[in-house]
Amino acid sequence: MRTKDKIYVAGHRGLVGSALVKTLTRNGYTNLLCRTHDELDLTDQSGVESLFAEERPDYVFLAAAKVGGIHANNTYPADFIHINLAIQNNILMAAHKYPVNRLLFLGSSCIYPKAAPQPLKEEYLNTGPLEPTNRPYAVAKLTGIEQCWSYNRQYATRFLAAMPTNLYGPGDNYNLENSHVLPALIRKFHEAKVNQSASVVVWGSGTPMREFLYSEDMAEACVFLMNLDDQQFDSMLGSDRNDGIPPLINVGAGKDCAIRELAELVREVTGYEGDIQFDASRPDGSPRKLLDVSRLSNLGWQATTGLKQGIHSAYAAYLTNLGSSVA
Ligand code: GDP
Repeated sequence: MRTKDKIYVAGHRGLVGSALVKTLTRNGYTNLLCRTHDELDLTDQSGVESLFAEERPDYVFLAAAKVGGIHANNTYPADFIHINLAIQNNILMAAHKYPVNRLLFLGSSCIYPKAAPQPLKEEYLNTGPLEPTNRPYAVAKLTGIEQCWSYNRQYATRFLAAMPTNLYGPGDNYNLENSHVLPALIRKFHEAKVNQSASVVVWGSGTPMREFLYSEDMAEACVFLMNLDDQQFDSMLGSDRNDGIPPLINVGAGKDCAIRELAELVREVTGYEGDIQFDASRPDGSPRKLLDVSRLSNLGWQATTGLKQGIHSAYAAYLTNLGSSVA
């Protein structure tokens, strides 16, 4: 990407999108194209087509999606499948019709089968049943990968799918009903400290294993991928007609921890001194989903923000935001 190229960040107010805007700006990219939800509803096909027809972006980061934690996915399955399918249908079609140089489609590690061997390699895709709590979201994202692959095969587009592990960072969703575990724990431990509560309730058994990546590391990885030379980028596109690996690359930190350990880390960072209780009536979800990141590390990228350091930064941003919303 040249610094003057027009770069469309779809979903620029989300966790990854906002980190992408920050990272791109820091790296000297000056021609960013962004639309808020009020300006453009990405489920509206003609609106999306008009944007591409008028603006003709050179590069697209497809970071817009309906996302949420285990409870939200379980409660609103129809919204999760419908909205995500609509967004990717519209943007991928428009990026083919008004050709872009490259497009990066973002998904999540829940696309892999529940019982797949760990760490999860790209080639384990579609080899078994999915985790039921987020299957509708996962099926939408799997369809997105197949769409990228199909466009690449039929029209020689350059659409690549990047699947991050669980992300967290500044600007995360801290709503306890629909957030992911890490922001939920930051909020719960912070409020328990302020209110001097005797204990904090953590959902499930505490035994599931999860891998966490700081959102700004994810943004760095996306920019790195978009800037690979043609030979490296094209080798990942899955454009041949054989049953090879789809145009897919995992993005993760390379190590995971139990939810119980995570809770202890968040307790330490927030300075809470009470107890931790586990609520077994809440679902555990997948037992483990650690990504195999060798494809990405062989290209020369690895995460730099340690989990404790990242939780400190996320907590600082959370406190700043609380301050500004009180002010
Ligand atoms: P998942 O990775 O799709 O399962 O999504 P989550 O990030 O929502 O949940 C990860 C794990 O953390 C699950 O085993 C949850 O039961 C557990 N967990 C523990 N406490 C919480 C909480 O307060 N909120 C959420 N969302 N998950 C929690």
